Amino acid sequence: MAKWQCVKQCGACCHLNPADRPDLDEYLSPPELEVYLSMVGEGGWCINYDKHLRECRIYANRPRFCRVESEIFQDMYGIKPEELNDFAIDCCRQQIEGVYSESSLEMLRFDEAVGFDFC
Ligand code: SF4
Ligand code: SF4
Repeated sequence: MAKWQCVKQCGACCHLNPADRPDLDEYLSPPELEVYLSMVGEGGWCINYDKHLRECRIYANRPRFCRVESEIFQDMYGIKPEELNDFAIDCCRQQIEGVYSESSLEMLRFDEAVGFDFC
C-alpha cells in the first residue's frame, strides 16, 4: 500500500496562487487566509520558499495550513485520521500535476517515494 511522505526538493504545495485554490475560505479561518494571502509572492510562489534550494526557509515555524498532520487535516478538511494517508497522496499528486505536470520528474519522484501504483 502506498504510504504518504513529503519528498524533499518538491515544493509543489508552496505554489500558493489563489487562482488555483478558489475554495481557500472554506478551510482557512479569516486570520489564516490573511496570512496565506500575505505569503503569495512572484509567480504565485510562497515568499518563504527558496526556489534555488527548493525548500521552506521557515520550515520549523511554517503556518498550520502547511502541515500534513492528522489533527489539522481533520479540522480543516474533515478528514478522519484513517483517511489521511490516501487524501494526502491525492493532494500532493494534484498539486504536483498542476505545478509541474503529470509526467514531470517531481511526479515520478513522488510516486516512487510513496509507492504509488497505477495498476
Ligand atoms: S506537494 Fe507533497 S511532496 Fe511536494 S512538497 Fe508538498 S507535501 Fe511535499
Ligand atoms: S511557509 Fe514554507 S511550507 Fe508553507 S507554503 Fe511557504 S515555503 Fe511552503
